Amino acid sequence: MMNGVCELVQTFPKEDAAVYHIEVLKKLQSVASNAIIQERVSKILCQQKCIYGDFVLTEFGDEILSQNIQSISLSDSENLILDRKGVDLSQVQVQVHIYTLNHDEAGLEEMEEEQVSMATQWILPSVHFHSLWESLVYDEAIKERLLNYATSTLIFSDKNVNSCIISWNRVILLHGPPGTGKTSLCKALAHKLCIRLADRFPCGQLVEINSHSLFSKWFSESGKLVTKMFQRLHEYMLDPDLFVCVLIDEVESLTAARKSCLNGNEPSDAIRVVNAVLTQIDQLKKFPNCLILTTSNITGAIDLAFVDRADIKQYIGPPSPRAIYKIFISCLNELMRVGIITPAKQLLEMRALEVMRFADNNTTRPSLQLREISLKCHGLSGRTLRKLPFMAHAMFIQGGAVTLEVFLQYLSQAVDQQFRDQ
Ligand code: ADP
Repeated sequence: MMNGVCELVQTFPKEDAAVYHIEVLKKLQSVASNAIIQERVSKILCQQKCIYGDFVLTEFGDEILSQNIQSISLSDSENLILDRKGVDLSQVQVQVHIYTLNHDEAGLEEMEEEQVSMATQWILPSVHFHSLWESLVYDEAIKERLLNYATSTLIFSDKNVNSCIISWNRVILLHGPPGTGKTSLCKALAHKLCIRLADRFPCGQLVEINSHSLFSKWFSESGKLVTKMFQRLHEYMLDPDLFVCVLIDEVESLTAARKSCLNGNEPSDAIRVVNAVLTQIDQLKKFPNCLILTTSNITGAIDLAFVDRADIKQYIGPPSPRAIYKIFISCLNELMRVGIITPAKQLLEMRALEVMRFADNNTTRPSLQLREISLKCHGLSGRTLRKLPFMAHAMFIQGGAVTLEVFLQYLSQAVDQQFRDQ
């Protein structure tokens, strides 16, 4: 089950210096060896004295790279983008990660006899999650923190650190209101880790467990199905080269199961399923190549037995106006790319507006208008925000193209409508 990830990670030696990650995406049909690509990429990086947060190369001026490489980019550069600071490559450590994307569709894990789909799985890094990480916008360095945590976890496990002396788990819980990107963040994290850890794990897999089938319909089967499904996961994990991320969405279903037990509904079955899941999670934690990612929409009501098992409990809230502004810019740029908004115009980053002290002129006006819209969207989830440009089009435009100024008026009206409908 090779996903084509290269094992090669080069570090330019510079101890104690900050580490920056360069991701090199190989074309599917690439035939060049990773060693050759590595050498040529290093040459290009040496020519770049300083790189910035939005560093992405798609033209290389090198025939071999042009034939074999889709892009070279600096990863995790959110803070650099905010600060507009550049990275002096002679002062930092650079790790180069070379990878290809798997293009397979998601596979379903079915229990043959029971004909029920218990899980969906993807080989990582997957084309389905490409750019997902970059598309998620948070104010704090939540993404970086999660990535660092997960990386340390895997290094500790891989090095066999004695967990009686230093304790850590392999369970992450993201909780917060619906639509704030928790599930997407889990998937993006799994994808990103596979790229980062390709030197250690040449293959990766994400298994999303269907909590609803686990906890509702199949109670009558007691914990049997749960145990069976987790046994399959154990089989995957026996391959030490395979990195397996297990995603359990909406773990509050677990609590619901316990509650249904308290209310007298089939108590023994419900409890048996919950206990089976908890025991199985403990079993999975034994494997150094496994990471368990979980989400919950209800912060206060997650089963305590479960919360105790999670090392990182990260709250994910609705985006701030600053993040909303950035999400809308990505939506509007997409509409300009396809010609629904025309002519294409550049929207300024919030930082640039701040530097100009929000001065109103022909260049800044659309950006200022978008900032006003972002301010009034406070409290809306990321999911709703990404739907609003579509709603604006559906409600007010339908056919043809419009200018950015006109679209912004419609977007503003769509936001008002959204609040009226809530
Ligand atoms: P949750 O699991 O919290 O309900 P999802 O992961 O299902 O949320 O989010 C659905 C979609 O909403 C995401 O794929 C993304 O397009 C959008 N979204 C949510 N939060 C954000 C965010 N902070 N930044 C950018 N997009 C977001």
